[in-house]
Amino acid sequence: MAPDVEFIDAEILIIGGGMVGATLAVAFGQAGIDVAVVDTADPEANLDAGFDGRASAIALATQRVLAGLGLWAALEPDAAPILDIRVSEGDSLFFLHYDHRETGDDAFGYMVENRNLRKALFHRLKDMQTVRMFAPASVATLDRQGHGVSATLADGRTIRARLVVAAEGRNSKTREDAGIRITNWSYEQSGIVCTVAHEKCHDFVANEHFLPAGPFAILPLMGDKERPGHCSSIVWTERSELVPAIMALDEAAFLEELEHRFGDFLGALDVVGPRWSYPLSLQYAEETIGLRLALVGDAAHGMHPIAGQGLNMGLRDVAALAEVVLDARRLGLDIGDGAVLERYQRWRRFDNTLMLAMTDGLNKLFSNNVRPLRLARDLGLAAVNQLPPLKKFFMRHAMGLVGNLPRLMRDQPL
Ligand SMILES: Cc1cc2nc3c(=O)[nH]c(=O)nc-3n(C[C@H](O)[C@H](O)[C@H](O)COP(=O)(O)OP(=O)(O)OC[C@H]3O[C@@H](n4cnc5c(N)ncnc54)[C@H](O)[C@@H]3O)c2cc1C
Repeated sequence: MAPDVEFIDAEILIIGGGMVGATLAVAFGQAGIDVAVVDTADPEANLDAGFDGRASAIALATQRVLAGLGLWAALEPDAAPILDIRVSEGDSLFFLHYDHRETGDDAFGYMVENRNLRKALFHRLKDMQTVRMFAPASVATLDRQGHGVSATLADGRTIRARLVVAAEGRNSKTREDAGIRITNWSYEQSGIVCTVAHEKCHDFVANEHFLPAGPFAILPLMGDKERPGHCSSIVWTERSELVPAIMALDEAAFLEELEHRFGDFLGALDVVGPRWSYPLSLQYAEETIGLRLALVGDAAHGMHPIAGQGLNMGLRDVAALAEVVLDARRLGLDIGDGAVLERYQRWRRFDNTLMLAMTDGLNKLFSNNVRPLRLARDLGLAAVNQLPPLKKFFMRHAMGLVGNLPRLMRDQPL
């Protein structure tokens, strides 16, 4: 008797339906491409407030991607615009102040709670006829051949497609099975994440305060709509060896440690909700393509959150890969062809490498108390503040508007 195998045909298979993989599915699905998404986790469980307490700084160019994919309307009511950015270090009097009005009316970007983005993606995908979700589910075997790919799920079903995209985050099994090597190193730092309520309004200013253990970021959240601007997301970088003890502190002692770093410029503070900690490391894949395979998001590159860029870079991958694939498809070309994928790799390589190097360099430059470096940093901050063209360039960079932008980031349709 023939085995009872169910075949599912799609054009594209995405393995990993996190924030990056799911956004890519929306991009392809919206363009009328049949997509299958496989994720080991239950997407509804990932919407729970206890799953991921982070909020992400979304640059203006990334916000345009979310708008072009019909996701922004659901996010906008709770998204906090970032109007100004203030960078300072230790007890130095030098600081850098970016005011969005120096480049125009647009905000630098928005703070979006990860669970809100996951929720918006979940609902958008549920309504799409072109996207099929298999979750929780896992790929048992993946066969990539010159003519197509075939993935057998653990439950025996088989998905056939022209192209497979690995979006499984840092520990991508598909990347590993494809023999793509990674380079990685640990920063011996962890990011402690929590939300604080404060007495005074933050006026939608993002603060990055450099301390010897690493950056301490105070990022504006919308908070209570009746009293907007009295809540912030904290990413407190600390030496990993100290983190278990800090995480174990009782509420009063944790607040005291936090206040010590936060300062009193927003009045009295209160920690709301749980705290999380994430070990920090840098990682990049030596290739971002293979036979009928493309890597996106953290599966391709994982960076220090010092500049809030990991998700932004992942969504830039999404916008670029979607554009390259759609352009090929419109011309009747094979979307999994090596030349199509090579275009994607070439496009994204420079941008991702630059950002990895920049975040790594910034972290090394600032996370120490070495006197000559402190002096150089102070001078650097003061110089950028005083040089309008350089300052403007950095501001446009923070908005994600520098480089060869995909159509979605230029407010154009895919
Ligand atoms: C403290 C901190 C703060 C940050 N702040 C910012 C910020 O402000 N701005 C910003 O741009 N970035 C920020 N980042 C980075 C950002 O969070 C990540 O870059 C982003 O979450 C990566 O998304 P992803 O979808 O690529 O991977 P992930 O979020 O890791 O998702 C991977 C998905 O794949 C699934 N999966 C895993 N293995 C398999 C498998 N074998 N088969 C099927 N599915 C699988 C998982 O269930 C998951 O759904 C921050 C990171 C940290 C640690």
